[in-house]
Amino acid sequence: MENVIIIGAGASGMMAALTAAENADKRVILLERQQRVGRKLLATGNGRCNLTNTGAAIENYHGEDRDFAAPALNAFPPEKVLDFFRNLGLLTVEEYGGRVYPLSDSANSVVDVLRFALEARGVELRSACPARELRREKQGFTVETDGERLHADKLIVACGGAAGAKLGGVNDGYELLKMLGHKRTALYPALVQLVTAPEYPRALKGVRADCALRLCAGGNVLAESAGELQFTETGVSGPAVFDLSRAAASGGKGLVLEADFLKDYEEAAVLNLLRQRRESLPALPASDMLTGLIHNRLGKMLVKYAEIKANIPLKALDDAALHSLARACKGFSLPVRGTEGFDKAQVTAGGVKCSGFNPETLESWFVPGLFACGEVLDIDGDCGGFNLQWAWASGRLAGRLGT
Ligand SMILES: Cc1cc2nc3c(=O)[nH]c(=O)nc-3n(C[C@H](O)[C@H](O)[C@H](O)COP(=O)(O)OP(=O)(O)OC[C@H]3O[C@@H](n4cnc5c(N)ncnc54)[C@H](O)[C@@H]3O)c2cc1C
Repeated sequence: MENVIIIGAGASGMMAALTAAENADKRVILLERQQRVGRKLLATGNGRCNLTNTGAAIENYHGEDRDFAAPALNAFPPEKVLDFFRNLGLLTVEEYGGRVYPLSDSANSVVDVLRFALEARGVELRSACPARELRREKQGFTVETDGERLHADKLIVACGGAAGAKLGGVNDGYELLKMLGHKRTALYPALVQLVTAPEYPRALKGVRADCALRLCAGGNVLAESAGELQFTETGVSGPAVFDLSRAAASGGKGLVLEADFLKDYEEAAVLNLLRQRRESLPALPASDMLTGLIHNRLGKMLVKYAEIKANIPLKALDDAALHSLARACKGFSLPVRGTEGFDKAQVTAGGVKCSGFNPETLESWFVPGLFACGEVLDIDGDCGGFNLQWAWASGRLAGRLGT
């Protein structure tokens, strides 16, 4: 019987283990350094687990060579992932933007059905058992844990990335693969809050807005996104911000975030709305100028940002003031100081270089019998279920062990 050792019982490792265990002539051992399997999975999607996205396409992924991800994603697309989970007993529901969640609305359900299946398929789970060292032998590999030396004919490294440090994100995977000769790229926190000049975000803490965002450097647009933004104590968060965080983390200094809070209206149309309001409600204080158009607190803040006095009646505002308010609605800008760190990041941008692995099998080109899957590789996805989709798809492919 062939010994298969999988290091890491997160999303991709559990998927790899279940796949390898479909083959009766394999003894599958799954090592997990934490006390419980799938600890990070439990925290995904704010505890709801956005487990895939029905619109997943290669354009949703990033890395030095994102096309590397295509064979795995094509072989195990979202509909197959959902079939797989249905067979494990998990019902799901699709929400806006193709995001899929468990019908129970609880990430626990996802981890539970995976745990049950691991047990039913005879996978030997060893928790609180970190892999410390890997050695290549004449035949297979030696895996050193704390106090044990295990033999593997085939080895799958599924240790995840550095993101979500409080949930167990570590650098182990990069280090273990380095011991076998694999190199990594630079690492950046991604899908993470941006830290900005604090004055406006702090005052607007908790306010959410649907908007279009642009990340600019020296007048050039580095990245764009649209969707929900949330103001925080130190800056901005939310899906639309997360989608820019990769560019912000690697974009250097002097970055500015521009938000358009009326993205479906041209500036001239906004100006017309403001003129109509001045005409119909001449006695209204300027602080209420944007009431009904934009979230109340944000509207008042934009009036301040446009340097308009709050108590002045609308009839006293000239066209120049209305212009500057329309511009504020369409181009509210915040100097970016950086991103939050790996602690708060949902994913790691960068990772072990994909060029060391065969994209059709995820086997190392130069260490036969060694496979890698999930976030430890230099592939990261957009916000919306794309990272777990990559974890499932790459785990499925690695778990086939080249067959
Ligand atoms: C707060 C948060 C929310 C997220 N929400 C979503 C979401 O809703 N949708 C989405 O698609 N993605 C989400 N993500 C991203 C997603 O969780 C990860 O991309 C995904 O879990 C990566 O899977 P993985 O198997 O590569 O790594 P992980 O799931 O991190 O699993 C790696 C496992 O390996 C173990 N390990 C590490 N080193 C060793 C070692 N030396 N020996 C033994 N075991 C080891 C770790 O303890 C861990 O259990 C979120 C991430 C975070 C942090």
